[in-house]
Amino acid sequence: MEKADLKIAGMHCESCVKLIEKALGKAKGVHSVVVNFAAGKALVTYDPALTDPSGLVRAVEKRGYGARLIERADTGKTETTYRGELRGLRKRFIIGAVFAVPALVLSMFFMRDPLPYQGYMLWFLATPVQFYVGREFYLGAWIALRNGSSTMDTLVALGTSAAYFYSLYLVLFEGENHQYFEASAVLITLVVLGKYLEAVSKHRTSEAIGRLEKLFPKEASVIRNGLEVKVPVEEVDPGEAVVVRPGEQVPVDGEIVKGTTTLDESMVTGESVPVARGVGEAVIGSTINREGSFTMKVTRTGSETMLAKIVRLVEDAQMRKAPVQRFADKVSSWFVPAVIAVACVTFIVWFVVLGAALSFALVAAVSVLVIACPCALGLATPTAIMVGTGMGAREGILIKGGDALETAGRLRHIVFDKTGTITKAAPEVTAIKAFKEYSETECVRLAAGMERGSEHPLAKAVVRKAGMMGVQPAEMDDFRAHTGKGVEALIGGDRYHVGSPRFIEEAGIDTEYFRQAAEEYEAEGQTVIMLAGAGKALGIFALSDTVRPEAAETVSRLHAMGLSTSMITGDNEQVARAIAGETGISSYRAGILPGEKAAFIEKMQGSGKVAMVGDGINDAPALARADIGIAMGSGTDIAMETGDIVFMRDDLSCLPRAIRLSRLTMQRIGLNMFWALFYNAVGIPVAAGLLYPWTGWLLNPMIAGGAMALSSVSVVLSSLMLKLKKF
Ligand code: ADP
Ligand code: MG
Repeated sequence: MEKADLKIAGMHCESCVKLIEKALGKAKGVHSVVVNFAAGKALVTYDPALTDPSGLVRAVEKRGYGARLIERADTGKTETTYRGELRGLRKRFIIGAVFAVPALVLSMFFMRDPLPYQGYMLWFLATPVQFYVGREFYLGAWIALRNGSSTMDTLVALGTSAAYFYSLYLVLFEGENHQYFEASAVLITLVVLGKYLEAVSKHRTSEAIGRLEKLFPKEASVIRNGLEVKVPVEEVDPGEAVVVRPGEQVPVDGEIVKGTTTLDESMVTGESVPVARGVGEAVIGSTINREGSFTMKVTRTGSETMLAKIVRLVEDAQMRKAPVQRFADKVSSWFVPAVIAVACVTFIVWFVVLGAALSFALVAAVSVLVIACPCALGLATPTAIMVGTGMGAREGILIKGGDALETAGRLRHIVFDKTGTITKAAPEVTAIKAFKEYSETECVRLAAGMERGSEHPLAKAVVRKAGMMGVQPAEMDDFRAHTGKGVEALIGGDRYHVGSPRFIEEAGIDTEYFRQAAEEYEAEGQTVIMLAGAGKALGIFALSDTVRPEAAETVSRLHAMGLSTSMITGDNEQVARAIAGETGISSYRAGILPGEKAAFIEKMQGSGKVAMVGDGINDAPALARADIGIAMGSGTDIAMETGDIVFMRDDLSCLPRAIRLSRLTMQRIGLNMFWALFYNAVGIPVAAGLLYPWTGWLLNPMIAGGAMALSSVSVVLSSLMLKLKKF
């Protein structure tokens, strides 16, 4: 399966989204499609054996829309299309205004005593607006009709055509000067203005991506043949050495090989305090070098870099629909036909049943058509999600899509993994005890040799310890990791194990000799791992890990937000109890295996949505099982892939913030939907003339058009207001 992003041109309304989704969904080789109206994009997952991007483009074009493949690594292009779209709309608005304003003035000031040939003058003014400025509406309506459906364009095209052609009839055959040309012209101009404003603000809602794209570095100073040369970043290859000076941007991802420095990583992690980095440590492309010069070895370039991945993740996230959106989709799919029906009924009741003048009945019907546009509803969800996910990304909180956001807003329980999540993931070996004839150094040599193959925080601690003691880790072979238990390998022809006491016992090794010592360390709240080889227990390591400084505060914030907390760990009971006590976590389970973690989550799900917070290294099954998997992991690839929410910063306090942001965004969506529907609900009866017999109120089509334009804009603005919220 491969993914392609298509830029779609000519989408006018949420109903177009459904048409395109249907067209692409039916195309050969297409696995899944998501179309985002607000972003003007389609994200297609397809089988490259059956189709290719140009096939996808053709499938869209057959339906009468424009489509173009967006290169994923390619930046800035979206910006250009957006500028083009904006320019087009602005031009149409200006032309519309040039003709519509004089038409309005003419018909308002000379209503009583029309000028000679006034009807013809208005006809002359209204025609370019109707057919040039308004051509997109006809086009949209036509495309929809050909696909057997109707969209907002249908409403505008029908409404304004009715006004225009009725006026034409009056002028040509009745010789009347009282007509509705100006109404149609002003209406079209206002709707185009609304679209223009909508495009501007829609762009603002997706600005998070633009901001990230602007970060892509341009040049790098590469050392080639012993000389330093400046080249465009695209020409840098993995393995090359790059020099970075103070104040420069790190060009690509890499590892420091010479020098130390402090880096401003705020663009990626949201953390504004610069971090120190030395030899052997990873640096992220696009971050800014503060002090110190360093040389780095390039590890990843182009679309493989962390920044490119983040951009892609945020883009994909903004495409993924929230389940609430389905409600909006459903409403808009029956809305347009329903509105046309209501407009017809309005006309028939006034004209035929009540015997009102043809013009009166027509005006009421046209107003109904115009005021009822469901576009504001179509914008309610995607714009809020774009703003919400963008706000998160800025703070290093990556929320992977509307669905994750919606679930995160409704969480009841938070389950934490211990090692690396509640604790700092930087445990230290505090004691080593070796079996009679073995030395501590020998134990460290063997254990570190095996642990070099593991990502586990305990494994890294053992390797670090070897480094500190100046011990060269043993060479090993046939390495195997047992998640949540330990690792095994062949060293010098013998099989060795290192891991939890339970793991060693399961391997059939007698741990009797160490039991007492192990229990003593455990009673002190330390984690114990054992080393065994050739059928014998050889030594034990005691490790202690410190609780993250922000853990207690985070837990109490979560409790204040009405969430319950628990901790699950493969570590021993004593450690778990001590840590639960220190952080205030309400309950804990110790000594459980990764598989059991998933079962625990499942049990919790009986009473509400559960989030699992882990480091993504050994708790992938639990993360996947939870309604929301949250991966802490200062940007490791695994964490980025497994989590529904990813923290780019190694900081637990991101968690309550992510949940609060999700809640705020969901509230905003609710508010947006209320306004969008409220407006239609109130507008339609007034436009239909329901209040007319009692109050004389009737919506003029021009006012209806203005209100319609404003309603879309106000929903988008309401989404943008989300940015003012603290989270
Ligand atoms: P947690 O649930 O706290 O994250 P894990 O499930 O990762 O803990 O591990 C549970 C236990 O398994 C650890 O306390 C340790 O005893 C053992 N263990 C797991 N992986 C390793 C490893 N690579 N080396 C040594 N011990 C390990
Ligand atoms: Mg863990």
